[in-house]
Amino acid sequence: MNAESKSSRIYYTKPSITELEIRYATDAATHGWGERCYEYIERFEQQFRQHLGVPHAIATSSGTGALHMGMAGLGIGPGDEVILGDINWIASAAPIVHLGAKPVLVDVLSDTWCLDPAAVEAAITPRTKAILAVHLYGNLCDMNALADVARKHGLHLIEDAAEAIGSIWHGRRAGSMGAFGAFSFHGTKTITTGEGGVFVTNDDALYERVLTLSNHGRARGETRQFWPATTGFKYKMSNLQAAIGCAQLERVEELVATKRRIFEHYRSALAELPLAMNPEPIGTVNGYWMPTIVVDKDVPFDRDDLLAAFRADNIDGRVFFWPLSSLGLFGTYPSHKIGQSLSRRALNLPSYNDMTTAEIDRVSSIVCSSLSQP
Ligand SMILES: *Cc1c(COP(=O)(O)O)cnc(C)c1O
Repeated sequence: MNAESKSSRIYYTKPSITELEIRYATDAATHGWGERCYEYIERFEQQFRQHLGVPHAIATSSGTGALHMGMAGLGIGPGDEVILGDINWIASAAPIVHLGAKPVLVDVLSDTWCLDPAAVEAAITPRTKAILAVHLYGNLCDMNALADVARKHGLHLIEDAAEAIGSIWHGRRAGSMGAFGAFSFHGTKTITTGEGGVFVTNDDALYERVLTLSNHGRARGETRQFWPATTGFKYKMSNLQAAIGCAQLERVEELVATKRRIFEHYRSALAELPLAMNPEPIGTVNGYWMPTIVVDKDVPFDRDDLLAAFRADNIDGRVFFWPLSSLGLFGTYPSHKIGQSLSRRALNLPSYNDMTTAEIDRVSSIVCSSLSQP
């Protein structure tokens, strides 16, 4: 590369598509029609059940759709409240709103950036129906504490594991522990089908309800054609997407291992700096969907300056999620000091399967120089 040419672009994330994905997608496009139009979908659901260790999975067109149907299946509706952490992507809150219920935000923990179980308990009212545990950037929520609170107050504990494929809480995979779990296979996620998601549950009755909802309200075993028993949803994954998903799932261990390797490389490169990264408490595994830095509070730091330095070197930076309470859509929560402070000090770093060590070093050196300036 000559001195004038711009550095090659470092994307914050991109899918890993091999011959296997192309072969399955080509097969689905060639043969996956007519009576074979569900083959890859069924195979994908079977593979996902096995991967997660749950008895039920329904492939969907998005993670948001999986959350929406799961919450509908739990009977969440007008007048109900669902508690979630203030630092979140809106996809976790939107289905609550669509069901006519109210998202109730609580502050997060400073180390995991996930919802604070004590704050959850304090936010419970007679209208509270569920707790939505979102495993942010692969970091696990404190599932033991949340399960205790849920049990004590008779609430559903739901897992949004869209960012947590590969994360394991004391032997149990993220998404397999709650009333139900939802995953996303959007193009930015560790496993992708372009767009897509999956609903998973251990609960036979909930599975049957969501299965009916997922098929435009048509119950399994209904012999009349085009006979919905209720008004359902249409959030199905296509066979073509599922074909790519089957290949991705065959490679899930490799894809997660690469995320972990990239994270470890960042961690050692940034070890001397005054910042924290995604935690991995004893007894857990972090799938490290997004390596994230949170600069220490007492350090002068301007996130926009670092983003500008990234841009100047053709590197994608990505801001940490804004507190949902700052959007003006869900009411204000001035007491959420941790979430508000975190979001100004935090940034996601690029990570994708074929990212080279030299590229990780290029990103790291910009972080280093931005934090060593007076
Ligand atoms: C990506 C994501 C979603 C939404 O998934 P889509 O497939 O884009 O609908 C939901 N929750 C979290 C935490 C996510 O990261």
